[in-house]
Amino acid sequence: MTSKAIPLPKLTGFSERNGNWYAEEVPLRDLAKEFGTPLYVYSRKALTEAYQAYDRACVDANGKRRARVHYAMKANSNLAVMDCFKKLGAGFDLVSGGELARALAIGADPKSLVFAGVGKSATEIAAALKAGVKCINVESIAELHQINRVATTLNCRAPISLRVNPDVDAQTHPYISTGLKGNKFGIAYHEVLKTYREASQLSQIDVVGIDCHIGSQITKTAPYLDALDKVLDLVAQLKKEGIVIHHLDLGGGLGISYGDESPPDITDFTNTLLNLVTERGFGYLDVVLEPGRSLVGNAGVLLTAVEYLKPGAEKNFCIVDAAMTELMRPALYEAHHGIVPVQTKALKSVTYDIVGPVCESGDWLGKDRALAIEEGDLLAILSAGAYGFVMASNYNTRPKPAEIMVDGEKVYIIRAREKISDLFSTETVLPN
Ligand SMILES: *Cc1c(COP(=O)(O)O)cnc(C)c1O
Repeated sequence: MTSKAIPLPKLTGFSERNGNWYAEEVPLRDLAKEFGTPLYVYSRKALTEAYQAYDRACVDANGKRRARVHYAMKANSNLAVMDCFKKLGAGFDLVSGGELARALAIGADPKSLVFAGVGKSATEIAAALKAGVKCINVESIAELHQINRVATTLNCRAPISLRVNPDVDAQTHPYISTGLKGNKFGIAYHEVLKTYREASQLSQIDVVGIDCHIGSQITKTAPYLDALDKVLDLVAQLKKEGIVIHHLDLGGGLGISYGDESPPDITDFTNTLLNLVTERGFGYLDVVLEPGRSLVGNAGVLLTAVEYLKPGAEKNFCIVDAAMTELMRPALYEAHHGIVPVQTKALKSVTYDIVGPVCESGDWLGKDRALAIEEGDLLAILSAGAYGFVMASNYNTRPKPAEIMVDGEKVYIIRAREKISDLFSTETVLPN
């Protein structure tokens, strides 16, 4: 049996003290006792510190703002999480009409909203134009014409930027790489100038920016610098042609450590990109950064209870009450999450696969983990703040878990657990 000794990530909101895991000042076992499991727990301190690391780099030594952070809310769109970022000064990056509605529900300034995504419907485009978003990021020529048509119907102007596919390898998992010419995202590099010329001729379109987003869980700065260089070449060319760009949106995608990755420090990373913008003479552009995972990934854990320990012929299974329905990343990307017992016990450590109750062999949360546990114990699945709850499903008619935010010693329920009866309350049987 192979036991990959992957270290635990360094966390700011969660810690172990005298054999007990805490979210800030609150023992995780108390939260499980009060609210049940499976349970998502977030730390306000962790998300605040991650945001501030970006923000520090966005302001230069003279106090001049060089860039703005638009939180990519698809990573975790709970209203309380978004509201914490809004209070810190964040704008938002949205990818659907549903996300637009959430942003408006927390009272986000429409001018702080950027609407991205490869397949926006006419209804979603209309909602964004009516709300008055800062910019719609366009991903194809067909979509550009659709936006122009919708704006004509609404008799308004549509501020747009084109999403450039810079054809760089982000060196990440193929499912979360978006800036290669074989990916569905963005406008092919060699077609961008032509598309801008076309956009500038359309009656209702205002060209305001340019953007790119090359993927997610990127742990190196080099692919970003390559992409940025290529995007700035385009801005220079557009300037020559008299097409004026006001903002440069560099996307998100900076990785976090789930254990053995060592992504660049957020402040250093941001400084490196912003310095290149300035060095190349584009310091006058408003820069937008769209981090998602790196703001929330390590600000959340998923608490789960051990139901059964099941010794097997080849493997021992630890069957827990969370599953791929709560946290899909292992099933989807074979992603690694640190898993720790919430209380340390003087038991013999055994190597388990941590699996859920869902009827799929892909339903696992961790493989080959040495744990000193018994039935009824609690486990914390770490680094579950991004692409965790938002990807949850009701498969096997499982209600979605509750979400809790801890702020120092205070505890807030930020989403109630779903009731089973809610899951089929909108279904009807045939009359005969
Ligand atoms: C998903 C996404 C992001 C955020 O990606 P992270 O890896 O979570 O930082 C930013 N911009 C766009 C356009 C996205 O689709």
